[in-house]
Amino acid sequence: MTPSVENNDEVQRIKDAAQIVDVVGECVSLKRAGTNMKGLCPFHGEKTPSFMVNPERQTFHCFGCGEGGDVLSFVMKYYNLTFPEALNELANRYHITLPERKFTAADQHKAEKRQRLFEVNERAASMYHEFLMHHAEAEQARHYLAGRDISPEMIVTFKLGYAPPGWDYLYNKVSKSSIPLSDAEAAGLLVKKDKGGYYDRFRDRVLFPIFELTGRVVGFGGRILGEGEPKYLNTPETLVFDKSRMLFGLYQHRDTIRQTRQAVIVEGNFDLLSLAAHGMENVVAPLGTALTQIQVRMLKGYADEIILLFDGDAAGVKAAMRSVPMFLAEQAEARVALLPAVHDPDSYIRAHGKEGLQKYLAEALPLLEFAFENLQQKHGLSMTGKGKILEELRPFIEASASSPLQQSVLISQFSEKLGLDPEQVLKGFRTAAQPRRDHRPISSRAVPLDKKTDKTVVQLNRKQAQLIEFLIFYPQFLERFLEAGIEEIMGEGCGGNILAGLQKAIDSNQAGGPEQLMETLESGPERSYVSELLISSPFLKQDEEDEITEKMAEEMLVWLVRYRFKKEIEQLSRDIREAQQAQDNDLLEELVIRKAELNRYIGSMDGGDDQ
Ligand SMILES: [Zn+2]
Repeated sequence: MTPSVENNDEVQRIKDAAQIVDVVGECVSLKRAGTNMKGLCPFHGEKTPSFMVNPERQTFHCFGCGEGGDVLSFVMKYYNLTFPEALNELANRYHITLPERKFTAADQHKAEKRQRLFEVNERAASMYHEFLMHHAEAEQARHYLAGRDISPEMIVTFKLGYAPPGWDYLYNKVSKSSIPLSDAEAAGLLVKKDKGGYYDRFRDRVLFPIFELTGRVVGFGGRILGEGEPKYLNTPETLVFDKSRMLFGLYQHRDTIRQTRQAVIVEGNFDLLSLAAHGMENVVAPLGTALTQIQVRMLKGYADEIILLFDGDAAGVKAAMRSVPMFLAEQAEARVALLPAVHDPDSYIRAHGKEGLQKYLAEALPLLEFAFENLQQKHGLSMTGKGKILEELRPFIEASASSPLQQSVLISQFSEKLGLDPEQVLKGFRTAAQPRRDHRPISSRAVPLDKKTDKTVVQLNRKQAQLIEFLIFYPQFLERFLEAGIEEIMGEGCGGNILAGLQKAIDSNQAGGPEQLMETLESGPERSYVSELLISSPFLKQDEEDEITEKMAEEMLVWLVRYRFKKEIEQLSRDIREAQQAQDNDLLEELVIRKAELNRYIGSMDGGDDQ
């Protein structure tokens, strides 16, 4: 992850161009909070913002999960990119040409492999798109799309394509091109036959390329045109395609979602296109799977409110119910609009227009109210019914565990609706929990949580913290602190690691300020410690008050030296006792003289506190 020395100029150029507030602001809604900007963390679920961006230092830190770093680490983490990819991504965005660079072999290898998959996907998307637009054999597909009011402009905007029937359209194209067949297979476009050779995965399907937020094609969704199964087919998981973190339409619609602060989730790609055809452009769709927590978290960065617009059948109800724990775990606002039984989003907007649909959405029920009503209808309010309702509410309570406040509000809401005492309800959850102990809670099965940084790992005592914090802000004193023996005090833990990072930052960049340290520390407790410090530290700005910093440094250096002498004196005292026992008088004399010397020396030093 760490850039090598020769990259530093470019890294710096990119960091100068890519203002962290702009880059983060694209996916997190930021508000000013003093010198910092504040927003909901995109890396963990929360309702109250604890994610801070410091525009002056160009760093970020989350006080909730401890994630922190600079603009490059943000891009890597948010878009799931390697370091070279993040660098390229920002370079492209800010029109900076990068010369050839060297990265670690593993990083380079992974980035190249992913790059090849992006290229195959890109070219396949273009081929399929061309085919749909112009080929005679795509007449039926064009007719089908026109029948759904999908205009040629929309076909271009979404780069829709058509994969013709037959087993070898793409195979032939790829064979004649410079693309290795193995790359097309790794991208999920070709399937290897048991007896050797390949065939096309997508046949006789309208194709929806899935764009990630950086604008690259990561995979496809395909709907069959004629008869055949399955009706919908997606790219399988690949090195660049992870369905659980992609939303169809988010790339095209994110600006509208950000402007309206509202996102509408529909179940299918065609639902989305139908609504877009009628001017509803704040719509996204999960890729044929249940909504995941990561998807909710992504949307939360753009929208204050998310509305689920599902069919009114049993499947729609089930999908809405399944999404409840995701929203609770993310503490995101959501409402549910189930369509009348005769309608799907397409037919509804045809019948009632955009305004009609918006009116319908405005009356959508808050998610929890919807869930409760649904359970009440299903089980009734007899004592047995209430027991069953409680049982089904349990995953919701579990999912809201990240916020005790939210959890107690939930319990009191449910209690009131059930006409039960909150204490009784709580007890119900506890006793009902007994027989199911062998099951993992539903929330943890359904919720693919990101690995959280353990921000508690950095444990420094007060003096260690004081020294390292000073050095982080004033690395120009590092040399002198090292001479005075700071390494001994920091030990081998996090303090030592930060110290090593500082050394590295200075070695690789003469002008190494605290922000440069972010580049040399990998994601983890140390970086979290530093990013938190940069957001919240009361230290003076680096270029201010040289005299004061010099004085602070002097004091700490004196302390360091005294500390080392005292340690040595302690050791001498132990050695003296041993020498006495061994009756080694020569050694004893030597030790006593040295101890007296040190004591005198300490006595002559002024200042420095004694801790
Ligand atoms: Zn966080």
